[in-house]
Amino acid sequence: MRGGLRKGKILAKGYDGHGMRCPAATKFLLFQRENGPDVRGSNVMTFQSIIGQERAIRLLSRMLHNDRLVHALVFTGIDGIGRQTTAKALAMALNCANRVGVSACNECRSCQKVISGNHPDVIIVERSGAFIKIDQVRSLRQQLRFAPLERGRRVIIINDAQTMNAEASNAMLKILEEPPKDTHIILTASQVTDLLPTIASRCQHIGFRPIPVAKIADVLVAKKNLDQETATALAILTKGSLGRALSADANKWMAWRKQVLERVGAVSKESTQELFVFAEALASDKATLEDALDMMTTWFRDVLMCKFQPEKILNGDFMENIQGASKECSVDEILEKLAAVSATQSAILKRANPRLALEVMMVRLRVGNRWGNSLSKGAPVGLKG
Ligand SMILES: [Zn+2]
Repeated sequence: MRGGLRKGKILAKGYDGHGMRCPAATKFLLFQRENGPDVRGSNVMTFQSIIGQERAIRLLSRMLHNDRLVHALVFTGIDGIGRQTTAKALAMALNCANRVGVSACNECRSCQKVISGNHPDVIIVERSGAFIKIDQVRSLRQQLRFAPLERGRRVIIINDAQTMNAEASNAMLKILEEPPKDTHIILTASQVTDLLPTIASRCQHIGFRPIPVAKIADVLVAKKNLDQETATALAILTKGSLGRALSADANKWMAWRKQVLERVGAVSKESTQELFVFAEALASDKATLEDALDMMTTWFRDVLMCKFQPEKILNGDFMENIQGASKECSVDEILEKLAAVSATQSAILKRANPRLALEVMMVRLRVGNRWGNSLSKGAPVGLKG
């Protein structure tokens, strides 16, 4: 029993009581959150299997090749683009018994332990509730007082490091100030400015980029047997997050997208009352609201694009409706509608009441069509229910 880990408790709950991930219990969680970039199957976790992060992989490979891997790294970017998978691939490469160049063999005992989440020197810390708490970092410090259990390097992966509260951040800073021998600490965060400057300055920063639409669509076609049209539509909406695209229920999602786009396409034909009911329905599901607003943005972008470069339309399966809407609206009117959706996204991000924000948006979308011209001349606005 080392580092304060009590095996029975850990194995039963998957955590050591301080939110520290138990290696033996990571098996099922390992590939769920950020497994997108691994296209060849969940048992492959090498640099070569990571999609769309060539620059990050090149930097890390160079460090590995020259045996100059720094002791602390921070991987930044949105969820689902391969930060965690890369951190684990790096842990695997560092400990592989049969490494060729910078490539782990994927088969030796050490590689298998990392893949199954059972490597005692690959420790993953995740938030417990909304935050990574002081107790978790204290528990980690306790473990780091001992040498690695196996011969290789110890790798600590702190997921969502931006969720460390002030106390946890200060405790982490102490670890970074006196890094233990043969230990590498990898933080993942949305952006480097979300971390304490004193923490960020002690880590080498590697940015992970959103994955191109075409690459995500290819993976969706290969792994989820989606048709090209569905895969592309899903790839666009997930904004570069392969993890999100892979975890989405494509059929359910496409049916819902159809519903949102049909409603937004018919916004000028619906009564204010009907639009308010639509606003209420959208506001009632916070989990999908962000996506719905993104869908509307792509819709009005397409309506605008249709006037200039119709070949660049994203929602190709709605081409006829988009062409119709484009003929009905002037460029100014479309820009007003785009601004209305954008203002709603900002308002909701700033914690405005979603239903009220959406109702205002619906009025702006409808007015833009029927009264756009008279509005610009300062005429009074009348809305029929
Ligand atoms: Zn190996």
